[in-house]
Amino acid sequence: MKLLVVEDDVSLAKNLIQGFAESGFEVVHASTVAIAKKRLEEPVDLVVLDLGLPDGDGLDLIQVLRERAPEAPMIITTARGELDHRLRGLEGGADDYLVKPYAFVELLARVRALLRRTQQRGSGTWRVGDLEIDPVARRVARANQALELTAREYDLLVRLVRAQGSVVTREMLAREIWHQRAWTASLDNAIDVHISRLREKLDKGQPARLLHTVRGVGFLLKEEPCP
Ligand code: CA
Repeated sequence: MKLLVVEDDVSLAKNLIQGFAESGFEVVHASTVAIAKKRLEEPVDLVVLDLGLPDGDGLDLIQVLRERAPEAPMIITTARGELDHRLRGLEGGADDYLVKPYAFVELLARVRALLRRTQQRGSGTWRVGDLEIDPVARRVARANQALELTAREYDLLVRLVRAQGSVVTREMLAREIWHQRAWTASLDNAIDVHISRLREKLDKGQPARLLHTVRGVGFLLKEEPCP
């Protein structure tokens, strides 16, 4: 199992690298956003990400990570009091967080728990009802029938699957899929158009509906029989 540790504090980074290595992990380290992006050119199984980095915001890395390694879990670490950062990190797709200072054993336990969870998803295939997504091959099938999705529809679907039945807001989609921070009516419209195309491909003619709209909030994916 290969971990990427993104941490600019030299002595903390040293401790983490040593601790993980002694626990049987392969560790790669990055002390800046730029180096971390470089490291992400190789596949990693999990990322420990410090949000305060010298050349930028660790939050930007979450997006890069989600694009390059959609299945790799991510634990963010923040200094005490950076609640806003922490929330934005979780919203942005991080799986867990720890507030500094933390004990290495605590981090190690969470890393192991997240890796177990990923492995339990079974050889990387995601399933919701009779929907199957192979993230390595980017193949999607429902009831064993392959679905032809555009790149954007696929990204939307993966984001919804990763939320594991909870609501993904329009703001999250705007930021993570369209990479827009500012709100515009045309963006809102684009989200609606892509969601409705995805719904058509996913749910049309099926006995159960998967893609649901939560009015005024966003969308979620779960199996529910059609009325
Ligand atoms: Ca830092």
